[in-house]
Amino acid sequence: MTDPLAPGATIGILGGGQLGRMLSVAASRLGFRCHVYEPGANPPAGDVAHAVTTAAYEDEAALRAFAAGVDVITYEFENIPTAALDLLETLRPIRPGRRALAVSQDRVAEKSFLNGLGLATAPWAPVDDAAGLAAALAAIGTPAILKTNRLGYDGKGQARILAPEDAPAALAAMAGQPAVLEGFVPFSAEVSVIAARGADGQVAAFDPGENVHQAGILRTTTVPARLSARQRTDAVLIAARILNALDYVGVLGVELFVTPQGLLVNEIAPRVHNSGHWTQQGCAVDQFEQHIRAVAGWPLGDGSRHSDVVMENLIGDDVHRVPDLARESGVAIHLYGKGAPRPGRKMGHINRVKPRA
Ligand code: AMP
Repeated sequence: MTDPLAPGATIGILGGGQLGRMLSVAASRLGFRCHVYEPGANPPAGDVAHAVTTAAYEDEAALRAFAAGVDVITYEFENIPTAALDLLETLRPIRPGRRALAVSQDRVAEKSFLNGLGLATAPWAPVDDAAGLAAALAAIGTPAILKTNRLGYDGKGQARILAPEDAPAALAAMAGQPAVLEGFVPFSAEVSVIAARGADGQVAAFDPGENVHQAGILRTTTVPARLSARQRTDAVLIAARILNALDYVGVLGVELFVTPQGLLVNEIAPRVHNSGHWTQQGCAVDQFEQHIRAVAGWPLGDGSRHSDVVMENLIGDDVHRVPDLARESGVAIHLYGKGAPRPGRKMGHINRVKPRA
């Protein structure tokens, strides 16, 4: 695909969660149709997409039919089985490309890539077994965090090691999967940059947001983040460096730890990101439209920030606050159309908006 997609074209989205839902809404505003591919029944994106395929990622016939009906393929999560991608990429362009997925699906690949670009991360070492963990702890020390190499999100697949005695339990929590030991970073803040790169190589970044996590799950993102002008520039330059190195097309989330020694990269997500939801009320063009523009080969939009925003996730029973929140001024409500609230389940989010200070 070299020409920009014209309105009426169909964008295929792998994954039908809330990110796919908000991507579909943004795509429809630009006149596109979305076809969502999701193994689970009744996906949140299904309510707003033009078409939904409910099939496993192992279903070759369903993957072929999906690809035949779309002009370009993107995704809302990074853990798509490799075999499905191998097939799909022979049929339609996948944006962002495979390298971004390979790097972000695997913590060892991710950290090696980042360090190879000269970007700082927490000290880390791969861990496969008890002897490897002992060696890693000897090199890195405590406190530290053991994380599964693959398939970790929202703090899942992680165990803290405050003292060497915690090592056996942490290793058991990995359930035999390859892992990475990370030194615990005494950060003063967590921030993230949501940035985009167009098919023509143009790069644009949203203002960095300051994130607060609880139990490993994002709770709030606040813009502006409390960063110096220099830190703000550094954050954006880090994101641009990653985008260019991956020859990336689409929106990327970069999570950073703020430390006295500078910014460390925690992880990258090759997709729209929860910490970018503030852009829906803070910018003329939000992260979802920016991603669709990039994937469709359109010029990137103006993502400069016109308002101050606090984004708050509605997790589990938080969703019961919606009737009260609906009475508050300056609050934009986004609900994901999910069923019953469960602890830890992201049901929606709100953006509290104020004119830019
Ligand atoms: P992750 O899923 O790796 O992004 O981790 C979820 C959250 O755990 C992060 O946003 C941090 O709040 C915390 N965390 C993860 N890794 C570290 C680390 N090496 N040092 C300090 N905190 C961490």
